Amino acid sequence: MVTNWETASDFLKSTPDPNATSYLDGWSCIISKLNPNDNDSDIIVGYTWKPDLITYHKDGTTTLRSQQDSIGYGSLRYSAITEALKRYAEVQIIYKDKQTFLVEKDPEVSPVKMQDCRSCSGFGAVDSFCYVGYCREGLFIFDKNKKLIDISCKKHSYSFKDNLHVISNELRNIHVITCIHGHTLNHRVKRGMQCSSCSGAKVKDYGSKPVMYLWNGAPITVRDGKIVKKTRLPSIIEKEVVDIVEHFSTIQERQNN
Ligand SMILES: [Zn+2]
Ligand SMILES: [Zn+2]
Ligand SMILES: [Zn+2]
Repeated sequence: MVTNWETASDFLKSTPDPNATSYLDGWSCIISKLNPNDNDSDIIVGYTWKPDLITYHKDGTTTLRSQQDSIGYGSLRYSAITEALKRYAEVQIIYKDKQTFLVEKDPEVSPVKMQDCRSCSGFGAVDSFCYVGYCREGLFIFDKNKKLIDISCKKHSYSFKDNLHVISNELRNIHVITCIHGHTLNHRVKRGMQCSSCSGAKVKDYGSKPVMYLWNGAPITVRDGKIVKKTRLPSIIEKEVVDIVEHFSTIQERQNN
């Protein structure tokens, strides 16, 4: 798999003409040397419309560059860029709140953030619906003149005696089974069901999310799927602030002792 200069270089050597542009792995990405006359040349991977989406450098770093318009949501090129960066730069693109973010390979996660479950507002349960059931086990009871006097269900201690005049012939040995809530009609049950989002725990971790880096498409350097963070020397003011803070903390320590 091509993921850096070395693997890209090996791939090009395996092609009939290492100095020509080739397709990568049958995928629609193209790969070529930036300067065919230089053995140590940067190697670019991308598409015909963006051939330098990914640039591999000999030092093992990789530069990603796009344009805001081509990474925006709704762009036809969005998924192509997402796929290429996942395959050949080992970074994920996430589109959120109309912005584009990069997620590193094996990303760090944000701290655990326990909050009331948003699905059940911290009750651990959500509303459910109770459907009443029907029983067909009513028995026809006749008097000695073979006149129907009752349809009774022993199982549910149910008797049709008073309603024989209203029930139709097909339905008369069917009766509604009173539900556990005492209802004979389907009804809503307030917080009748365990919340599937928090499994009834009432709280949920809304943290522990992969750390995302806002990306506007400007060149960014990665190495092995990790963004290379530029280390910046502290300015004089920052150094002075550190000195003051350290000075104060020494004073406090002394007072405490
Ligand atoms: Zn019954
Ligand atoms: Zn019920
Ligand atoms: Zn919940």
